[in-house]
Amino acid sequence: MAAREVLPTTLMDIIQETPRVCTFRLALPEKSPFSFQAGQFVMASIPGFLNTKGRPVRRAYSVASSPKDLEKGFLELTITRVGEGGFFSNRIHECRPGDTIHIDGPYGSFVLRSADETPPQRYLFVASGSGIAPLRGMIRTILMEGRKVPVSLYYGYRNASDFIFEKELTDYALGRPDFELVTALSRGEGTVIEPAGGLPNVRKGLQGRITRLLPELIPKADGSEVYICGPPEMVGQSEAFFRDAGYPEERVHKEQW
Ligand SMILES: Cc1cc2nc3c(=O)[nH]c(=O)nc-3n(C[C@H](O)[C@H](O)[C@H](O)COP(=O)(O)OP(=O)(O)OC[C@H]3O[C@@H](n4cnc5c(N)ncnc54)[C@H](O)[C@@H]3O)c2cc1C
Repeated sequence: MAAREVLPTTLMDIIQETPRVCTFRLALPEKSPFSFQAGQFVMASIPGFLNTKGRPVRRAYSVASSPKDLEKGFLELTITRVGEGGFFSNRIHECRPGDTIHIDGPYGSFVLRSADETPPQRYLFVASGSGIAPLRGMIRTILMEGRKVPVSLYYGYRNASDFIFEKELTDYALGRPDFELVTALSRGEGTVIEPAGGLPNVRKGLQGRITRLLPELIPKADGSEVYICGPPEMVGQSEAFFRDAGYPEERVHKEQW
């Protein structure tokens, strides 16, 4: 991957999403030409944070905000602190507002279908863990652009406290009956709220892996555009499900890490 021009951004805010995950809101330099499509990623580095060869340590992060947020001068990266040995993710969690973070990009072809194209019957998002990051950017874009297409989000994480963007995503579903939100816990006790506040489109805290629930959630193939993001095993299983259910390959998009 050829590196693009490196852009210095300023860390404006750090939002603690879950015990291990923070969103880093980065301010772009004034009049920056940076642009991206919802779902793409950037390479991030920290000035002076070098590897043993004296080169900047760079890591890929999906942009978790919408291109529409660039109009307000920022973009967001949502990063899991991977714990012992997580070289870059630990280092960036030590950064503070005012610090400089370098980004280059955008990269990647995991992108939301443009508003100019024929809309699908619905947007169907399947995520696990921090795989929600690019999908949140896509969902924000759909809502900020006022696209009148139903949205389903099926999201799996370990324990109840690991729901990244819980308030924002729940608010979307509570405010829009055609926004279906289903979350599943792979570990720990579930708080099954089914349906939350009496709304049939919100079910949080089902038990089990999200991939195991897909056959119940999606009884038959429809004209959905599907976006999957998460660890390789989860993405592989989801992709196999959609293939076997009869979804055309070109309608199923994936990103994994
Ligand atoms: C296209 C793309 C987009 C990505 N977007 C995001 C994103 O939005 N948010 C995000 O948090 N990450 C994202 N990643 C992953 C990110 O690039 C790094 O790999 C991750 O932050 C770990 O880097 P590190 O330097 O902390 O760990 P490293 O020092 O590279 O790895 C240290 C150890 O941690 C293990 N490890 C690495 N990642 C994980 C993990 N997730 N869970 C458990 N163990 C792990 C490694 O196997 C290794 O043993 C993305 C990756 C790609 C390729």
